[in-house]
Amino acid sequence: MRYTEPKEQTVTLLRLALAQMGQHDARLNPLTFAVFYEHLAGINPRLSEAFEQAVSLQPRLDDEAVRRLHDQFVAEVDDAEAERIRGDMHKVMTEIAESAAHTGRTAGAFGAKLDGLSGALASSDTAALTPHIHEALAGTQEMQRSVESLRHQVVSSEREIARLRSDLMRTREEATRCPLTRVLNRRGFEQHLDTMLAQPPQRGTSHCLIMIDIDHFKRVNDTHGHVVGDRVIAGLGEVLRSVPPEPGMALARYGGEEFAILLPSATLPRAAQVAEAVRARARAMKLKHRQTQEVMVTVTVSAGVAAWHPGEDGHALVSCADAALYRAKESGRDRVTVA
Ligand code: GH3
Ligand code: MG
Ligand code: MG
Repeated sequence: MRYTEPKEQTVTLLRLALAQMGQHDARLNPLTFAVFYEHLAGINPRLSEAFEQAVSLQPRLDDEAVRRLHDQFVAEVDDAEAERIRGDMHKVMTEIAESAAHTGRTAGAFGAKLDGLSGALASSDTAALTPHIHEALAGTQEMQRSVESLRHQVVSSEREIARLRSDLMRTREEATRCPLTRVLNRRGFEQHLDTMLAQPPQRGTSHCLIMIDIDHFKRVNDTHGHVVGDRVIAGLGEVLRSVPPEPGMALARYGGEEFAILLPSATLPRAAQVAEAVRARARAMKLKHRQTQEVMVTVTVSAGVAAWHPGEDGHALVSCADAALYRAKESGRDRVTVA
């Protein structure tokens, strides 16, 4: 289990966390609490290091800063979970191997008995045959039992392994997906980016990246509050998912109100078309008031498109798309700029 602190200590930690959380701007939700709790309990050194660094840059942590810490260092609980599942799988495999070894030993002993029987059959002494036949019979029964038990174990282990495998897939899936937007999270993005760049692009194409950022999003938060802001972010996730898929296309929330689309073996003009589709669909998105159905918010997005050059790493590609995005912002927003 991740949290093993005794009750009294958790009470102290709760008080401490509350007091400290009050000194920051982030909302006091369970996500924020998890970050403060783990930091104060001293159980997550990588989080604590990042936490101290974040505070030194920004003394009052806001929602975005806390969310970043959470996604990078607390949500990693899934790694531990994956490790546990891997351990369980290993145990199941070891059990089968032991059973198989036992069956092998039984088969060896059975073989020796059959040898005795065949020796006795070869000799003319029929009286000596009877004990060998009895032994061979007993051996056959033992062999049957052993094989049956192995078969049984293999069947039940298969089921257990299938269950563990689906657990593992689900944990992996959860660890790389953003629940709000149902696209990849930053971690999933990094993984897909690495995988994409590990393969050479098809002839005449290049791996492309689109970076998308909501325009003047701070105003949305300031005018309507963070809850509505989150709904806009979720809406943009939906917009991304509504774009006709290209081969191998991966959609991600890069962080905050920034999204990314990876297009393996694409062309810059094609990538620009995809970006344009996102821009147009985002512009058409109307966030309605839940009760009155009145349109509350509309937004625009800017996008930067870049193609990967052989030899470049992922950071270079992201920087290049980011620079194009910056130019899209500079030249008036609500547009797509190609690097
Ligand atoms: P620009 O057109 O230059 O992109 O302006 P902007 O206001 O969108 O840019 P800026 O980066 O200054 O502001 C982004 C804001 O997005 C600040 C941050 O509080 C907010 N934000 C980041 N993540 C989230 C989130 O998950 N939910 C909500 N509601 N707001 C978020
Ligand atoms: Mg931004
Ligand atoms: Mg923005």
